[in-house]
Amino acid sequence: MANNTYIGVDLGGTSLLAAVVDTFNGRIMGESKRKTRPELGAAGVADRLVQTIDKAIDDAHLKRRDIAGIGIGVPGPIDVETGVVVRCENLGPTWDQFALGDTVKAAFKLPIVLDNDVNVGAVGEHSFGAGKGFSEMLAIFVGTGVGGGIISADKLYAGARNSAGEVGHMVLAADSALLCNCGQAGCAETLCSRTAIERDIRAAIASGAASVVPGILQETERDDISAGIIGDAYDAGDAVTMAAVAKAQRYLGLLIASCVNLLDPQIIVVGGGVLARMGESYLVPVRRTAQEHYINKMNADRLPIVCAALGDYAGVIGAAVLARERLNGG
Ligand SMILES: [Zn+2]
Repeated sequence: MANNTYIGVDLGGTSLLAAVVDTFNGRIMGESKRKTRPELGAAGVADRLVQTIDKAIDDAHLKRRDIAGIGIGVPGPIDVETGVVVRCENLGPTWDQFALGDTVKAAFKLPIVLDNDVNVGAVGEHSFGAGKGFSEMLAIFVGTGVGGGIISADKLYAGARNSAGEVGHMVLAADSALLCNCGQAGCAETLCSRTAIERDIRAAIASGAASVVPGILQETERDDISAGIIGDAYDAGDAVTMAAVAKAQRYLGLLIASCVNLLDPQIIVVGGGVLARMGESYLVPVRRTAQEHYINKMNADRLPIVCAALGDYAGVIGAAVLARERLNGG
């Protein structure tokens, strides 16, 4: 019988999550989490990654020999063929051209599959989350940035250079003065990410608008306006926050409409920190805007735009599933 037990790893800027996944049913058999500590550099973080994987195997009461392979989601572009990380902006310059695949393979003597974190998240939601049973799916994750992953004919659609699905950098406002991290102006990410909402709230407060946000920041001793704080201020009826959220929702709706006009998927799954905090009600105005901008309006009200279901586990489950698929040739 085929061994369906794979390791999935989600390598994030703040934390590292490894899980032993039964890729037959998506069950987490064991897991381990620790801080990434990017200041240690690529080699130091790779050591921590190996230790985290071993802990997850222990947690599942298994041995290394019970594992069929390892999938890793990395926050940046990857050379999927060689397992070399092209770049990881939020982890630092030591990751440029770092051979993460070879490093982990040397430790475990197991086959390794790498892809970017958003792609593996999309595969997770498609396999065992909100997109299960839909062969044409688009996933959009709204957090610090905005990322996307496309599933077509039940497989991850990678594109010619493995860079498809970069929905966060679709230009929605070319004449905008808002510069994106990528250097372009008016990217979707500058208009509908958590960071965009934070920027608009700060601008309104700076221009003298009354808001509960400064009080919440002081109380919680935080500097950044997290998804949690946005949610709390929104629930308290804070006008500044509600206006910033409404603007982000509108642009997310426009982004989804453009993607639907391009791809015509069966379902759009929306995840990430903002959605995890705000929930289903966040999508109500998003759906309305999207529907107004579909070119093909036939059955448009039935095109599901839904919340992601796996939360922080989408990445590890997706990485494990992707490892099984790629290592078994499909
Ligand atoms: Zn951009």
